[in-house]
Amino acid sequence: MPKLYLLLGGNLGDRTLYLQQARESIAAQVGSIKQASALYETAAWGKTDQPSFLNQVLEVETILGPEQVLQTINTIEHDLGRERLEHWGARVIDIDILFYDNLVQQTQRLTIPHPQLHLRRFTLLPLQEIAPGLVHPVFQQSIAELLQQCPDELEVKKYKKEV
Ligand code: ATP
Ligand code: CA
Ligand code: CA
Repeated sequence: MPKLYLLLGGNLGDRTLYLQQARESIAAQVGSIKQASALYETAAWGKTDQPSFLNQVLEVETILGPEQVLQTINTIEHDLGRERLEHWGARVIDIDILFYDNLVQQTQRLTIPHPQLHLRRFTLLPLQEIAPGLVHPVFQQSIAELLQQCPDELEVKKYKKEV
């Protein structure tokens, strides 16, 4: 069965609750979650005048094709109340496709592997936790190697929920 890696992120409202609801919807509509990283907290990237993000990477087994996965995660984002205001703006939930097996595809709607993943510590760090040896099908380097070379200097911390 095809193996999919997804990045979840959000920086508005009850961030851990939105991530939990996203995981539940993914398990119900995309496929079985085989691995989940810890939650990581990062200052906003790209557009920095907004609250910090919580991120998590999931490994999911799916019978859906890549386009169907995109459609389904867009629906889940919408159902959880995401409003598309501005690119890279604040949002309750963002779900990105990082990898779909070894697929390499670039269309207007969908680029796989995600074109920015190697540039973002907030993606590479949780990915390394669950798949350090995974090889990027374009760069032919493992996640651990990509992380070593990543120029991103934004701090990414493991998140402990306050009690
Ligand atoms: P970034 O992709 O840089 O993280 P973003 O997640 O904020 O930015 P969105 O506004 O969520 O960007 O998505 C814009 C569009 O990107 C989506 O409607 C989708 O069609 C497209 N897209 C292309 N490749 C992917 C991918 N690998 N995963 C998710 N969406 C993708
Ligand atoms: Ca994103
Ligand atoms: Ca997105």
